[in-house]
Amino acid sequence: MQKLILGSGKPLIGIVGCLHGNETIGSEIIEILKNINPRAGSLILVIANEEAMKQDKRFIGTDLNRCFPGNENGNHEERLAAAISKELGKCDYVIDIHSTTADTESFIVATKKEALKLAQLVPINKIVFMEPVIANGKSLIDHVRCGISIEFSNNVKTETAKEIILKCLQNIGIPESSAPLAEKEIYSVYDILKKGNIHPALANFQQTTLEGDTFYPVLFGEKEYKDILCLKAKKVSTQPSLQFQNT
Ligand SMILES: [Zn+2]
Repeated sequence: MQKLILGSGKPLIGIVGCLHGNETIGSEIIEILKNINPRAGSLILVIANEEAMKQDKRFIGTDLNRCFPGNENGNHEERLAAAISKELGKCDYVIDIHSTTADTESFIVATKKEALKLAQLVPINKIVFMEPVIANGKSLIDHVRCGISIEFSNNVKTETAKEIILKCLQNIGIPESSAPLAEKEIYSVYDILKKGNIHPALANFQQTTLEGDTFYPVLFGEKEYKDILCLKAKKVSTQPSLQFQNT
């Protein structure tokens, strides 16, 4: 794990890349962010799984983003998760950077309703809310105060991705009352569709009816999903501030 702290004071924002070693956009963005000077507050930049990066693999022993809060006496990823939890547990906000091999728009992932406030500040239009039963409570963002993952599209340019992260950092500095609420589409993942005998051609975020169930596919075509065809989501709202207020 590589860690760098920039600035001092509140809010403390953690930015994590390469929880999955072969998703290099995270480390590319962090390399660029190393040179910025936080106007207010401070940043912890973390490049997570360097071993897996060297081998161009998602992970060495276990998927790191499925073993939080980690175990100091566990395998490589479990120990890493424990170390990362320690660093990021004190952050006010955490932004965790991923990329997908699926043919999809970039989207934001949240597992807690509190995190939707942070998701509002990211200039990406789609938010995918993972129900606890799907997220299984073992991802990084389940174990920080207010965290989101960003799943960048496979064809996003590093420059564009960097601008999105910078814009979000800027927005965090805006007092909440004056931050404009961008309109977002929110999807809630309620089930997983396993690969079976049928091989339907699905399109991510395009309403689909399959075996009597109508849903929006998410992460269809992700090569790292060995048994999963896609996640099944419902469209919840385009007004998250109303939908999720005080719940
Ligand atoms: Zn990932």
